[in-house]
Amino acid sequence: MQLIFMGPPGAGKGTQAQLLATLWKIPHISTGDILRACVVAKTTLGQKAQAYMDAGDLVPDQLLMDIVQERMNQPDATAGWILDGFPRTVPQAAFFDTLLCDVGGGKSGKDCDLRAVNLDVPDNILVTRLLSRGRQDDNEQTIRRRLQVYREQTEPLIEFYRDRQQLVAVDGDRSMEEVTAQLQQALSVDS
Ligand code: AMP
Repeated sequence: MQLIFMGPPGAGKGTQAQLLATLWKIPHISTGDILRACVVAKTTLGQKAQAYMDAGDLVPDQLLMDIVQERMNQPDATAGWILDGFPRTVPQAAFFDTLLCDVGGGKSGKDCDLRAVNLDVPDNILVTRLLSRGRQDDNEQTIRRRLQVYREQTEPLIEFYRDRQQLVAVDGDRSMEEVTAQLQQALSVDS
């Protein structure tokens, strides 16, 4: 199972990705979690990323590509994975196709059984959810910025994966259990 989780901030990507990864015994790779760990550990990468994250902006593509390349080359990432929060821009998606080709023995992202889940949730519900979550970047100004960045830079990826017939669209405005059930049903076809 090679799965990408997309969706605006607060859509429940992290929760659902973690649940399914545990169920299917594959790694849950969250670029947000990796970056937050780097910030806490005050690594060079963390120091470079922090200002972008605090402002609700995307961290530069090149840093993300380095992180993902390193992570995808770890031994536990060979059988399958759930990527949560990557790719988030068109250049990241293009890079990811090349990377998959390298680690996947020549099969590019277009040809392998990659699927991209989009969890859709209306903006007003997202803001309420995020304000109650209380993460460092969950204040109203940053939330509005993250939603804007999502609409401008990440949403185009929905069409990118839809065109390749790899998109799985799921209504995220339901209870956690209902969303999990929908996802399992939508993804069970050839998993
Ligand atoms: P998340 O936990 O996925 O909401 O990510 C938290 C923050 O980390 C985002 O607001 C971005 O600043 C940064 N980030 C995570 N993943 C990416 C990515 N793929 N590209 C750029 N920035 C990212």
